[in-house]
Amino acid sequence: MTSFNPLSIAFDAWRVTRGGSLLLARRQQERLAELVAFARAHSRFYAEKYRGLPETITNARQLPPVTKLELMEHFDEVVTDPDVRKTGVEAFLADQSTIGQAYLDRYMVWTTSGTTGTPGIFLEDKAWDTVITAVNLTRIGLEWYTPEVIRGMLKRGGMTAAVFAGNGHFLGVSMIERQRRSRASRARSMHLIPVTLPIPEIVQRLNELQPAMFSGYASALALLAQEQLAGRLKIQPSIVVSSAEPLSDENRALIQQAFGVPPRNNYSCSEGGVMGYECHQGNMHLNTDWVLFEPVDENYQPVTPGQFSSRVLITNLANRVMPIIRYELGDRVSLDPEPCNCGITLPVVNVEGRTDEILRFESANGQTIPVLPLALWAIIKETPGVLRFQAIQTAPGALKIRLETKPFADRVETWDKVEARVREYLQKQGLGNVTIIRATEAPMRDPKSGKFRNVWTEKG
Ligand SMILES: [Zn+2]
Repeated sequence: MTSFNPLSIAFDAWRVTRGGSLLLARRQQERLAELVAFARAHSRFYAEKYRGLPETITNARQLPPVTKLELMEHFDEVVTDPDVRKTGVEAFLADQSTIGQAYLDRYMVWTTSGTTGTPGIFLEDKAWDTVITAVNLTRIGLEWYTPEVIRGMLKRGGMTAAVFAGNGHFLGVSMIERQRRSRASRARSMHLIPVTLPIPEIVQRLNELQPAMFSGYASALALLAQEQLAGRLKIQPSIVVSSAEPLSDENRALIQQAFGVPPRNNYSCSEGGVMGYECHQGNMHLNTDWVLFEPVDENYQPVTPGQFSSRVLITNLANRVMPIIRYELGDRVSLDPEPCNCGITLPVVNVEGRTDEILRFESANGQTIPVLPLALWAIIKETPGVLRFQAIQTAPGALKIRLETKPFADRVETWDKVEARVREYLQKQGLGNVTIIRATEAPMRDPKSGKFRNVWTEKG
């Protein structure tokens, strides 16, 4: 049996990091067999799905894939704790005051829209929490926190600031809130700055805090790097961490130029936690000893290393309360055929990921004002009644919104709320002049790439 003792997990993670592919394969096999046996015994959904399959599973490819929609539709049968009910979890999530608290005093809960646009709800149990913490400390800790970074952190009292969506039960936000609740000293040194604030306000908050560690979405970091280069933002972080969006080479260079340190990047999602982290060579290594990662084509067949997949199947080997087994993620990725020369033997991935863009609007007095995609996302997506949306800039002063409302929501009322919230946000940015257009068509996938984007520009 796998031990969920933090010290043995940390020690094992340390061994596997450079232990080669055979050791890695052995861990994957043992943990998968245990997870599948548990899911069959405690989840009605998986018991039914795996009926007729061999008793012992040693290879994930013996199992059928699952989708987010499937797990959400059968939520009460998927979870392995009979006390967990979808209606109960939804009531918990509707309450903003519970962000960072445990549901039923034992599970962390978060929501996601993901790239496919179907909202998801995920639970994390103690075992997964222990694994994420121990694996991150061992791998990210050793790779990113050099003596120089630690000195910088100590000098500034460990002050950290994260620029994230601040108004929902999302993975990053919940994690930070939980830490803040755990100790008064952390509440003083860890700060969450909502990405929905006007840029000058974000800049002012950061100038006041002077964080040693500074993290956020790649697009927000890139924009703040421009503020730093323009001299309005004046911070000297010893570490900058980018997450949730892919980091382009251009933005990477911009961030390094502005803050004097290379940005550190991780690859995370609500279903698999921190799935990967960058080594000092800038390659993204996957924690595949705890999250299986299978790049596949349209027909769920594995793609060869070096080739881009059309999706990925992930299996969370630690979490028991809500088994995630061969779960489909929309990310297009490719695995590096060659091992990284940093010495870490965990596989290296290239992620194509989200393609949302920063919008640049013209204010009434002719100024260009940037609007972050994730700010719009947080505002529109968090409006009650909204299922999916797309926001498209169609002219220097026009924003078109496509909306799909939830089955029982009042469409007109939802539209009114969305428009009022977006208008209020734009006004605060000095963009009261921007016209908001209600599209008659529903949100749709890009006909060329097949990807579902949330925010982009077509102003040409
Ligand atoms: Zn490496």
